[in-house]
Amino acid sequence: MSVQLFVPTFRIDECLEEIRECLEKGWTGLGFKTIQFEDEWKKYTGLENAHFLNSATVGLNLAVKILKMENDWNEEDEIISTPLTFISSNHAIAYEGMKVVFADVDQHLCLDPADVERKITDKTKAVLFVGIGGNTGQYLKIVELCKKYNLKLILDAAHMAGTRLNGQIPGKEADVVVYSFQAVKNLPTADSGMICFKEKQYDELCRKLTWLGINKDTYARSTDKGAYKWKYDVEYVGYKYHGNSIMAAIGLVQLRYLDQDNAYRRQLAKWYDDRFKQHSNLIGTIKPAEDCESSRHLYIIEVNNRDELLLALNECEIYPGVHYRDNTEYRMYAYGKGTCPNSHRLSERIMSLPMHLKMNKQDVDYICDKVIEYSSF
Ligand SMILES: *Cc1c(COP(=O)(O)O)cnc(C)c1O
Repeated sequence: MSVQLFVPTFRIDECLEEIRECLEKGWTGLGFKTIQFEDEWKKYTGLENAHFLNSATVGLNLAVKILKMENDWNEEDEIISTPLTFISSNHAIAYEGMKVVFADVDQHLCLDPADVERKITDKTKAVLFVGIGGNTGQYLKIVELCKKYNLKLILDAAHMAGTRLNGQIPGKEADVVVYSFQAVKNLPTADSGMICFKEKQYDELCRKLTWLGINKDTYARSTDKGAYKWKYDVEYVGYKYHGNSIMAAIGLVQLRYLDQDNAYRRQLAKWYDDRFKQHSNLIGTIKPAEDCESSRHLYIIEVNNRDELLLALNECEIYPGVHYRDNTEYRMYAYGKGTCPNSHRLSERIMSLPMHLKMNKQDVDYICDKVIEYSSF
């Protein structure tokens, strides 16, 4: 038996049917399915705006860029973020020349509000919160802090497709929310993402920036017949960041099954929990907050002999991962070393166990047997 960390599931016939529509219509690019997917996403999340992108990385970059442009932030200004995240989150800040200030994580591996508050200076402009593994952690306390100190809030929801907090999709409280639909996320396409700004005007600006800064209104106003299609204006040095209809076609199908799929992920998590409960002296489990119905993109445990256990599991053809290494261990962010003791410690102790829809109870039991066998004091 071999169990991989992530194996995406696609309802292949339904995906092909949606893609076929694009091919038959001769419309694979921006527009058509991208608009349908944006509309469905707004309906599903209840968020006001949604713009489909080619990745969450570009979304996070645009989130920082647009907030910086529109609020006159400077290069020396600071954004507080977590060291326990995929490097995209922090690069998004660095791309704009701003400083990443690291705050520590709590028992959920999400930003600890008390440490965030300690790290606020007069240069702090925003907080970037990562809902790691689909967990909302102490998100609502971070929302309160942002209000209290007049900071913008960026929610990296790369793991949070379908996560609910007190029964609602979180995100309305944030200035901008960014989702990832990368190949092995819990709503997989191949590569794509969604950016949801609270402010309509930022959404409009974002749509220009994701297509080279082109202002389509010029020709939209000119004629319906397309004679002046080339006569657009370019207002910004924009990028080529928008998503395409083929990815959106897959996303539309995935969204139909998102709640059902996440419910099965929670079932897998429960099977893991039930087994590890009796071994809590050896194996810690990272739990979602009480009020959080997590997407369960990840199932993370904490052990004393992480590296050894990883190798032992690999020998049994079980392939876990690590989400994530403390980013201050990377040269780029080494200036943050020593500032977040919990993250530094957990970075050496956490492991993500296989979590995907092709697994069943037997797989979970097999993995648990081996984890229990090879974990040590
Ligand atoms: C995957 C991921 C991203 C980047 O998503 P892409 O769509 O691959 O660009 C950003 N943040 C976190 C926390 C992620 O896990």
